[in-house]
Amino acid sequence: MSIQDSIQDGTLRSIAGKVSGGVPISGDDALYLLKSPRIMEIGALAHSVRTRLHGAQTFYGVNLNLNYTNICELRCPLCAFSRDAGTDGAYTLSPLEVEAKVREAVINGIDEVHVVGGLNPALDLAYYEELLRAIRRAGPDLFVVGFTATEYDYVARKQGLSVEAVLRRFAEAGVNALPGGGAEIFDPAIRQVIAPRKMPGQRWLEVMRTAHQVGLKSNATLLYGHRETPEQIVDHLTRLRALQEETGGFKAFVPLAFHPANTALQANGRSQDGFSDIRLYATARLFLHNISHIKALWMYLGEAMAQILLDFGVDDIGSTYSEERIVHAAGATTEPSGSEARLQRLIRTAGKTPVRVASDYQPRSARKPAP
Ligand code: SF4
Repeated sequence: MSIQDSIQDGTLRSIAGKVSGGVPISGDDALYLLKSPRIMEIGALAHSVRTRLHGAQTFYGVNLNLNYTNICELRCPLCAFSRDAGTDGAYTLSPLEVEAKVREAVINGIDEVHVVGGLNPALDLAYYEELLRAIRRAGPDLFVVGFTATEYDYVARKQGLSVEAVLRRFAEAGVNALPGGGAEIFDPAIRQVIAPRKMPGQRWLEVMRTAHQVGLKSNATLLYGHRETPEQIVDHLTRLRALQEETGGFKAFVPLAFHPANTALQANGRSQDGFSDIRLYATARLFLHNISHIKALWMYLGEAMAQILLDFGVDDIGSTYSEERIVHAAGATTEPSGSEARLQRLIRTAGKTPVRVASDYQPRSARKPAP
């Protein structure tokens, strides 16, 4: 019996028919999935797509997280990481400090550096380029995932350059791809509450379009679990799917579970729960038919939920992320970094095959799993 035949609910059965026939599901379908309690049937459908695309392969990375400065002009209410210049805990790493950190991480066997930071008015183009060259000196073969769309927009405006010019200069200095941060949620009303000074969602999409046009691939994110509605999630996914139709530049979709501790939104808490986590990832797998990978960051969700999601449409559990600061500043209780052996074990005990990759999804040599 096919999954479609086993589904009792009529709307779900019709969605299953589209999925098995390779027909993109509609925004209304996605909305239905996000509101449905039938997570096992939705999960089976999402898992069938994940298996068609990737079999049992489950991707993970070994990387260094490099938050070069936490000084930021915007001080978004959603953020627990940023500081005002000159206040307690504010910092900026010099390129030499960055080089030393990367050298140590290279000795420990990383494949990739993930570089993001605040919008620090004291930094100019020369700083960013020197920072990238320092990373390249320390690890010429590293894959460098560098700077959110928000940072590119900021540097371009401050330096009087086009975003395209900044993207090209940073690529020349060492950036291989972009992370997906800064998207938050595109809906302007909710963005006004959680990140009122951040550039609009439309601008995030324009920066990503330009990045893809100059040959830099990226991830796409969604910050969820604050106060968004299912309708706002569908709107966000619809805009990502449309841009992907145009450019094909998104490698992975990465939902980010909101952590409110130490943020200005702390009093409202977080709104996600187990069912809404599962529905979101599974719906994303079904709706974003044109984005190859769905990534569940163990560090945001906890190892147990990230592992369960491998049967609900997810094919990538994230990376070791040594020195992660952003989500831990907001109260994440997971370890500040994972070991490769631990990630391999999580994947294997879920009955999947671990594949070590960088953000280009090209296989890298894995260490032998622990006995
Ligand atoms: S979320 Fe990003 S842009 Fe907003 S305050 Fe934090 S570091 Fe700055």
